Amino acid sequence: MITQELLEDALKYGKCFVRNGNTASYIPELQRVNKYQLGICAVGMDGEVMEAGDSRVPFTIQSISKIISLILAIRDRGADYLFHDKVGVEPTGDPFNSIIKLETKTRPFNPFINAGAIAVASCINGDSSDEKFERFLSLTRKLCNNETIELNENVYRSEKETGDRNRALAYYLKASGVLEGDVEECLDFYFKMCSVNVTALDVANLSGLLANHGCCPATKEALIESQSAKAIRALMLTCGMYDGSGEFAMTVGFPAKSGVGGGIAVSLAGRMGIGVFGPALDEKGNSVGGIKMLEFLSDRLNCQLF
Ligand code: GLN
Repeated sequence: MITQELLEDALKYGKCFVRNGNTASYIPELQRVNKYQLGICAVGMDGEVMEAGDSRVPFTIQSISKIISLILAIRDRGADYLFHDKVGVEPTGDPFNSIIKLETKTRPFNPFINAGAIAVASCINGDSSDEKFERFLSLTRKLCNNETIELNENVYRSEKETGDRNRALAYYLKASGVLEGDVEECLDFYFKMCSVNVTALDVANLSGLLANHGCCPATKEALIESQSAKAIRALMLTCGMYDGSGEFAMTVGFPAKSGVGGGIAVSLAGRMGIGVFGPALDEKGNSVGGIKMLEFLSDRLNCQLF
């Protein structure tokens, strides 16, 4: 059983490692964040919430948004079409923003690397990036059980100004017939979805919903299909920590999705959802203190999958 004391101990342990990481430098606005922040939140299947440290500090959702855009695209286009025509479901072993496999294989390997997420983003219904983003934001608020979630304008601008690598991926995907519609509109939406402010509590609510087979633990409302929740948990396990997914499975053994804002979403089916925030990252873009807290919990809780 998770207890408040255990979360506090995990936080204390995680803090010892934070100095080894650095904030994401390729997005200038993220580099400015205080790297010593660390927080964790757990949500149980009856909606009970436990928090420690900086669990209410806002940070940008970054790649954790790829879970939500995938849910939206599955709704709009169906899982069969998406996973047949647009993205695969296999890990790459390459960094999250890698372009190397696009020339040898038309479809991006999975929806959690940037190329895959950009392809998925292009399939979301909406005539403009604003319309797509409105739909994304309203679903994010619902899934995180927080109607006050907003875009972080500064991070959005910073991403848009410096996102040439994502631009390269998107134009390549357009040239090979994978990306649908206008490239710049799609990129604008992608930069926005990455730049939404959330807290560890919001991420824990999203993770709790995925752990609870699509049903919000707090309100009991069924918000996504259990099949989608299952597919996403599987992708989290195999591809959620980028090219650190294998090692994370060995040391922690939880289905998880990280973002370069320092967040990690962890979803333990039928048990709990965890949200973590720690902006000091390792060289793969995963939260150093976050991983250490999760390692600590997986040791003590005896609920890892392996
Ligand atoms: N916005 C970031 C990017 O596209 C998201 C990547 C991440 O969180 N790993 O580079």
